[in-house]
Amino acid sequence: MEMIIVNKNRIAACLLTASITVSLLTGCKKDTEPSVTSSETTAAPSVSITETTETTPESSSFVTYTAQEYKDAGVNELNSVPVLMYHRIYGTTNAETEYTGGNVDKDGYNRTSEAFEADLRRYYEQGYRMMRLADFVSGYIDVPFGYSPLILTFDDGIRDVVLQGWNDDGTPVFDPTCAIGILEKIKAEYPDYNVTATFFVNSQLFENGEDNDKKIMKWMVDNGYDIGNHTYDHKTLGKCDAAEIEKQIGSMYKLLNEIIPGQYVNIVALPYGSPETFPPEKPQYEKIFSGTYEGFSYTTKSSLLCSWTRSYSPFVRDYDVRRLRRIRGYDNNGKDWDIEMNFKQLSEGRRYISDGNPDTIVFPSSDNSKGDWLKNTYGHQVITYDK
Ligand SMILES: [Zn+2]
Repeated sequence: MEMIIVNKNRIAACLLTASITVSLLTGCKKDTEPSVTSSETTAAPSVSITETTETTPESSSFVTYTAQEYKDAGVNELNSVPVLMYHRIYGTTNAETEYTGGNVDKDGYNRTSEAFEADLRRYYEQGYRMMRLADFVSGYIDVPFGYSPLILTFDDGIRDVVLQGWNDDGTPVFDPTCAIGILEKIKAEYPDYNVTATFFVNSQLFENGEDNDKKIMKWMVDNGYDIGNHTYDHKTLGKCDAAEIEKQIGSMYKLLNEIIPGQYVNIVALPYGSPETFPPEKPQYEKIFSGTYEGFSYTTKSSLLCSWTRSYSPFVRDYDVRRLRRIRGYDNNGKDWDIEMNFKQLSEGRRYISDGNPDTIVFPSSDNSKGDWLKNTYGHQVITYDK
């Protein structure tokens, strides 16, 4: 019973953050991605290859495409990527909830299993293919030619992995309506979807009992899932001093390292999305990114906001690995940055479309016409084409 009250507080605080960020967005037009212009030309499109100073490994296994093929497929690796933020998945139908669409609570942080399964099928049909968040923050995007990357994240661990028992061969039996139950079903159905997700947990892990959760987590990392840090006690880090931040982040990494040594991801989903910024006058926030707790040293590669919209490509100027934006997985009739609104905007010329080669960055030259939009190449070869 106590747990339920805590969860309600979490939902309320998350909503507050989301409301603030939405109004900031509408107020000051934060989103400054260049719009895709269609400059019609009679000349055949040409490809321009820029050699980077760093050595790019030979990638002879990848096909090279012509400018016309890039153009026809709309290849653009400077465009945006949906990183979905889900919380709990409940084994109910949409008709069984009193809220909009597949929402299980008023603010839509929790989703019905019916809606979540439909989300996954829709993303697939729209040409999205999943990839690991850890690869994304490393600038390594391996999605087939003409397809778009999709990243799934889950916060809190509750109702994400619900154990029903163990098979004789030691593999877990999941509740088919929890998040991983549905992911495993979709994985079997769509082998080319590359089903994967990153689960951000607190010290209570997935709440199947400590021994069960430890065994499940080992199974998860061996079966294409990742586990990251959501702080030990789900604390609002923006209200903590340096010592408390170091304890919250460090003790959670320490626990993960005991259960799945070296196999967790060094990424933090910030509870309540706090802090949202890391100003120099708040040096304690650096403890999110490096520190030592009880002799255990850690570093954090990326932190994730409780956000409202798509992430920038890791290659562009406005991408911030410490403030990674996520889309809240909820329904609101296509308004207020729900799934439908975000994916509609992506489909209208803002969507990252892959060239099929993780070692190259391909985009129309007009998208970097001022030369300041492409910022980080991660050592990849850059290829531009005329539209
Ligand atoms: Zn949380």
